[in-house]
Amino acid sequence: MEELIVESHPWNMEPSFSHDALRAAAAPRLAPLFEPLAIGPHIAPNRFYSVPYSSGWGNHEVRLEAAHRGIRAMGGWGVVCTGEVIFSREAGTHILPSTELYDDGDVPTVATIADAIHEHGALAGIELVHYGALANPASWRIPPIGPSQMQSDAVFFSNAIGQTMTREDIRRSQDEWARAAMRARSAGFDIVYVHCAHSAQPIQFLAPYYNRRTDEYGGTLANRARFLIEILEHIRVAVGDQMAVACRYAIESLGPGGLGIDEALAVMGMTDHLVDLWDIAIGGLANADRDLTPSRLYGEGASLEWSRRAKEATSKPVVGSSRFTDVDLMLRVVESGELDCIGAARPGIADPFMPRKIAAGEFGRIRECIGSNRCAFSQMQGIMSCSQNATVGEEYRRGWNPEQFTPASNAGEPVLIIGAGPAGMECATVLARRGFEQIHLVEAERRMGGHMGWFSSLPGFNPWGRLIEHREWLVNHLRSIQFVPGKRLDADQVLDYGASIVIVATGAPWSTMGESIFDNSLIPGADASMPNVLTPEQTLLAGKQIPGRRVLVYDCEADLTALAVTQHLQAQGHDVELASPHADIGFRAHQDGVSFALRAEILAAGGKLRPGLVLTAVDTAGAQFVDASLGETRIDCDAVMLLTRRRSDDALYLELLDREADRRSAAVTALYRIGDCLAPQNHSEAVFSGHRLAREIDSTDPAVPLPAPRA
Ligand code: ADP
Repeated sequence: MEELIVESHPWNMEPSFSHDALRAAAAPRLAPLFEPLAIGPHIAPNRFYSVPYSSGWGNHEVRLEAAHRGIRAMGGWGVVCTGEVIFSREAGTHILPSTELYDDGDVPTVATIADAIHEHGALAGIELVHYGALANPASWRIPPIGPSQMQSDAVFFSNAIGQTMTREDIRRSQDEWARAAMRARSAGFDIVYVHCAHSAQPIQFLAPYYNRRTDEYGGTLANRARFLIEILEHIRVAVGDQMAVACRYAIESLGPGGLGIDEALAVMGMTDHLVDLWDIAIGGLANADRDLTPSRLYGEGASLEWSRRAKEATSKPVVGSSRFTDVDLMLRVVESGELDCIGAARPGIADPFMPRKIAAGEFGRIRECIGSNRCAFSQMQGIMSCSQNATVGEEYRRGWNPEQFTPASNAGEPVLIIGAGPAGMECATVLARRGFEQIHLVEAERRMGGHMGWFSSLPGFNPWGRLIEHREWLVNHLRSIQFVPGKRLDADQVLDYGASIVIVATGAPWSTMGESIFDNSLIPGADASMPNVLTPEQTLLAGKQIPGRRVLVYDCEADLTALAVTQHLQAQGHDVELASPHADIGFRAHQDGVSFALRAEILAAGGKLRPGLVLTAVDTAGAQFVDASLGETRIDCDAVMLLTRRRSDDALYLELLDREADRRSAAVTALYRIGDCLAPQNHSEAVFSGHRLAREIDSTDPAVPLPAPRA
């Protein structure tokens, strides 16, 4: 194995830093981003603002929450906020656990979050949230309360229909807001939020959809604004001049019965004297994609179209979030006064150290958000994860910091990684940062990226390619990694390579065998060695020709890939029908709105969607199905694209495992598999798998994750 030069760049970033030093270090052109800003009685040290976003951890996991927010403060964000904090038993959705501030007993718990943020010189914001009619307090055996008895506009969230608030209920609820603000102050927070976006309680009073009242809280805009005004007044009195009051505000509901932008600006005018900072959002929960702006549908800065209008109605600082990662755009937005602060949830999840990297001029090191919205929706599956940042959610539990790596005790051992997909690339870069001096990353294809290479070439998914680009940048800059392209290794070549640690990261391509979703039996004729049967990799990577115009895509995954592949085939001029055994095509990607949009685009381009069809046979003239309700049916086509399941490409690993004596004589002391080779996973979990192994490569048994749950 060829000797490589060891990288001497100081890659680790120290936990302690000062905002003054950061400001002094920033290039003069970046100065506007590092200027302090008065927010009510407090001064934010710069314009980087980590806005509230949910983590899915409740009070029982507050140490995870505190460490997660603390790392954002360590990364240089001037303001760091909590996720949603529920302060009334009527307030929560129970879809995700939230931080709870029900009574004084919760104050010490919640204070640990503020402490973790303050430790690094940031201001701490706390987002008080009440979901009103949208809440689902069923576990407390009470119905939701709202301005009127209306069904939620986001039925996937909660379909409970609650009780209409009496004036008594209104006063009680406002009192709860004020008490919660006082508790937030006792917990040490600097900024208290009223959440008036995403269909939460105050905006329900503003929006005619929810508010059908005929008393002084309904009807005219002034009446509908009364509830918000009174909450803000109560909170002002409660917290005095010790806290800033922020309003997270949907400036345009973008839905029928919502609040149009002119009305929203008018309400800002009525309340501006009570608010110290406006954090601008758009949309309700039913159209969450407009606020979550998945990169497949919206570009960076897409929300500016709305948020820049806020300045028409306020003299107070305005924060807007729009997946900002482009420093020139951030500068333009702040210099032009469109926004005072660069708000971020996703970009700060992907790279909590972005402000410090910007100050240091280390733009290449920024782990840019890919806009997959993995963070937002992985929580629904009970984890907090990120496509780009494997350390998310592990700040406390595993003690991981994305910019700190300890030297490995076995760093002198030569390492061979087979496969430069997301898992292999991640593993290589973490090993390099742990001091390994010789890492060979060998890839059969000419480029790094693995499956993400072809996936990000599908229509509109180009931003997902950042997953590769960031790691490619690191591989090129960490000189202890040698990338060897265009080389498909077999077991003999691996054994001859000269590495003592061998890591197999060969992925999990779509199966060529056409397994049934029900019993894994092989579907007759669904065999991708035939000319009329294809897989995505065969077509997109290997260039297998499609024999004819009419293609049937058969998808058992129900995520984005089949929709994107369908669109690719349409763009190539094919007539495509997308069939799935699931009743709802692409349902696993529904929550950020992408799959709805792609389905609409497929139909508009002349494609057909065929849900509820179970593939039973393929022949040269088409495919045979069983329809759950209609019985047997047939679709004529020239080719069938199979997305039945992915299958780990673990043959190389298993052969090496079997050849124990050969490994011993070749001085291969350790053999591991990571990523999709271990099991077909989401890309974020493949990255995690590579990261985890590298972090623990010098543990007693690196193949088995160290016991981690210390919540
Ligand atoms: P993961 O998501 O786990 O990183 P991918 O499928 O994205 O997995 O990437 C696996 C990579 O491994 C692919 O780029 C593939 O070309 C490469 N690969 C598979 N087998 C070999 C091999 N024998 N030698 C070199 N590279 C391989």
